[in-house]
Amino acid sequence: MKRDLWDAIHKCSKCDAVMKRKEITIEGEKVRGWECTKCDETVLHPQDAQRMLLLSKLKRGLSVKIGELGKSLVVRIPKEMASLYNLSKGGQVTIKAESESKIELEIGNLSAEELEDDIKHMYKRIA
Ligand SMILES: [Zn+2]
Repeated sequence: MKRDLWDAIHKCSKCDAVMKRKEITIEGEKVRGWECTKCDETVLHPQDAQRMLLLSKLKRGLSVKIGELGKSLVVRIPKEMASLYNLSKGGQVTIKAESESKIELEIGNLSAEELEDDIKHMYKRIA
């Protein structure tokens, strides 16, 4: 069985002391890492570091073409975006009008309660 790096004991590359696990927050994202108990050296979990790199790349946005399927328009979600958000065929997303030039996709179903709240907020803004 493959052991996760997270469970292994790590020694500091600078001073050889044992490092302890630490959750580090970078740009609002939680990343696993290790911190040296002696010096200030910190190391990020390579998997999480990879995810952070991908996230910062995808935050800049990807340009995709609008297609057509029957009477609907279709926007393809690039593979790397899909894997970052664990999206797969048959999964559910909620599509929202954010502003005149922005559409928001939210992972998962919008509950009836949330829909009702959204409508109430909308009426408050208009009234
Ligand atoms: Zn150290």
